[in-house]
Amino acid sequence: MKNYLKMSFMGISENEATARTAAAAVFSELNPTIEQIADVRTAVSEAVTNAIVHGYRGTSGMVEMECSIMGDIFTVIVSDKGCGIENLELAMQPFYTTAKGEERTGIGFAVMQAFMDNLEVTSEIGKGTKVTMKKRVKAFDDVSELSAVRC
Ligand code: ATP
Ligand code: MG
Repeated sequence: MKNYLKMSFMGISENEATARTAAAAVFSELNPTIEQIADVRTAVSEAVTNAIVHGYRGTSGMVEMECSIMGDIFTVIVSDKGCGIENLELAMQPFYTTAKGEERTGIGFAVMQAFMDNLEVTSEIGKGTKVTMKKRVKAFDDVSELSAVRC
């Protein structure tokens, strides 16, 4: 493991920016492109927002984020101890939302899926939700690959 960061913060929207900035800082150690950094920021933002808005709906609680780097793979885990998701398969379908009329479109999970290489969600009613996302940054350690990019 090259790096590991764990943070725990109050589930309030003010902390969403702090979480995505910390995740992006750890991810940056893999020398990603600006676009890849933006992907991670957006995906983390969606996961943290879900924990706050849905997990702790009408209540308060702590959100935990763990970031790690192993080889060329960045992993971020966002978890809450909130209400949990009743039907995970349904919840992960694009445009499915339980917060209609609150300017939610139901694309958070679809965005996480699209912007990261891997997305895994586990959830238990009354216990909480855990979102694990991975993104790989391929290192240009092959000289021929490097020159191909420069051309
Ligand atoms: P958007 O992300 O587009 O604003 P959304 O949050 O409703 O809308 P998703 O992020 O795709 O859409 O989540 C789909 C649904 O899954 C939510 O409406 C909610 O019912 C459920 N959900 C997601 N994350 C959690 C969570 N951490 N705790 C409880 N329920 C969740
Ligand atoms: Mg969402």
